[in-house]
Amino acid sequence: MTIDKEALRRKYREERDKRLRPDGNDQYLRLTGRFAHYLDDPYTPRIERDPKTDHVTVAFIGGGFAGLVTGARLKEAGVEDVRIVEKGGDFGGTWYWNRYPGAQCDTASFVYMPLLEETGHMPTEKYAHAPEILEHCRRIGKHYGLYDHALLHTEVTDLTWDETRSRWVIRTDRGDAFTAQFVAMGIGPLHVPKLPGIPGIDDFRGHAFHTSRWDYAYTGGDPSGAPMDRLADKRVAVIGTGATAVQCVPHLARACGELYVFQRTPSSVDVRDNRPTDPEWFATVATPGWQQRWLENFTANQTGAPAEEDLVMDGWTDISRRFRARIEHLRPEELTQESMLAAFEDSDFEKMEEIRARVDAVVADPATAHALKAWYRQLCKRPCFHDEYLQAFNRPNTHLVDTGGKGVERITERGVVVAGREYEVDCVIYASGFEVGTDYTRRAGYDLTGRGGVRLSEHWADGMRTLHGVHVHGFPNAFLVQPTQAANLISNIPHNLTEAGRTIAVTVRHALDHGYAEVEATREAEEAWVELLLSGTGRLLGSQDCTPGYYNNEGQDPGRKSWLGVGHPHGAMAYFAFIDGWRESGAFEGLDFRRGGQDR
Ligand code: NDP
Repeated sequence: MTIDKEALRRKYREERDKRLRPDGNDQYLRLTGRFAHYLDDPYTPRIERDPKTDHVTVAFIGGGFAGLVTGARLKEAGVEDVRIVEKGGDFGGTWYWNRYPGAQCDTASFVYMPLLEETGHMPTEKYAHAPEILEHCRRIGKHYGLYDHALLHTEVTDLTWDETRSRWVIRTDRGDAFTAQFVAMGIGPLHVPKLPGIPGIDDFRGHAFHTSRWDYAYTGGDPSGAPMDRLADKRVAVIGTGATAVQCVPHLARACGELYVFQRTPSSVDVRDNRPTDPEWFATVATPGWQQRWLENFTANQTGAPAEEDLVMDGWTDISRRFRARIEHLRPEELTQESMLAAFEDSDFEKMEEIRARVDAVVADPATAHALKAWYRQLCKRPCFHDEYLQAFNRPNTHLVDTGGKGVERITERGVVVAGREYEVDCVIYASGFEVGTDYTRRAGYDLTGRGGVRLSEHWADGMRTLHGVHVHGFPNAFLVQPTQAANLISNIPHNLTEAGRTIAVTVRHALDHGYAEVEATREAEEAWVELLLSGTGRLLGSQDCTPGYYNNEGQDPGRKSWLGVGHPHGAMAYFAFIDGWRESGAFEGLDFRRGGQDR
């Protein structure tokens, strides 16, 4: 295949420029005030309870994978009273909320679903569907007794460090005011749904909901894929064509009378190739230590680190397989930054040409096929994988409405307007994603008040600052569970979380065993870590050359703050090896353990 690289670069720039807009993240609407009802929980009734005013050893904010894996490690370390505070009606986090039809993991279950070995669960498919993942979250909760102290349907409103008693005071929207010696936070990167700020969005008189609050009462069907039998006579609009839409559109296409998919930027949609797990094969895989081996193998393959084999073998590892194939014949002196970047670009051009050719091979109507092609580098936007999405556009009831990069023009009482044409619909489904570029404390819904009354938002006024992505100077006994400033492994978020959980369990255990009331990252250690982070080549994702999206702050200069939104300068494998050694050493370098207020 001959590729005209200059022509492609030009095309990518033109397509990006079409989509650049001055309002960046401000184009989206927060779901407050008149939009607050979009956040109602359609899945679990809220049960009234008395406020808590007691004390626990560890409080964890967020009952998704982060809270579950950290809770599990703490329980294994003998910390019994771990209280998870969760805004949803059950554990699961993103998998609690996202029950849209067709939801499934995009990273292989064997590495994506945490604690498989510990709980003895065999994923039924290479890419498990959402109900199985939600059930696995519950399994972890039950296995480790995490329901015992949990507060569900509860949102933290305030976290304040009590210096005299060396503990955190936690207040919630249920009137709770309890204390915890330690707090850990795993609020998730994508948990605050957003709506597009389309003029007239409030005028629509039909039915409307966001994909993260799927209204099965309206559509019929259920998350396991039962047909949505109430849509047969309905005209439905889906706004957005990101990873969520790619998964739910095929189901809607089968169910709706007419389906209109409103597209601003096409996703790149590669082959999924899902398949059931063969129990006999799994028995040969699941020998002691298997999941850790798979995790390390996936990370090595996905990040281009040396690996003898590729256990997962999928679209994620394909990205670096191609890159590696291009550089392995180079002599050491030829391995310059320039040659690496060129190899990366060449493999990307090749991959994206294949993905675009796939659209032509699958989609019958040439104009629709043309519009569904993604003109940007694969990691400019979240890569998608699906074997029924493109195919859905071959159905006579399924219509792609391409907005030429401009987005929906207007919403009226009756429907959706693009290029002056009104598409009358009964229901609008917003597959418009989640807040990403906003401040941590805004997404958390609370600020932390640490030592000396300093707020986390103040400490981070010039960007995030942590030690190892876990500890923050000035905020004793508080831990973060998230990927940034740590491994930053985007292709498998749970791997980052599991490691953070281990670090926290070891740290808390050490404090408890030695009677320390407080543990805090020293200023020097935090500064040195930030300096190390800044010594790298910067953010892998988020190039301003990319088409706008949440990976690159919607195409706006993210400012100095974003320089700190990076991972370990030598990559995810280097971070995992480092943090493993840090834990093993038992020296807790960079942390200051204290007996309490008196020895400060
Ligand atoms: P995204 O933010 O990826 O997609 C939002 C969509 O809405 C985009 O296509 C966007 O277009 C479109 N949009 C926004 N404003 C307008 C407008 N005014 N007019 C028309 N279209 C508009 O959200 P998703 O929920 O799809 O995915 C979010 C993330 O969640 C994913 O990137 C992924 O990380 C995760 N996810 C993971 C899954 C998994 O692992 N299985 C499944 C689903 C999601 P544009 O691209 O132009 O901005």
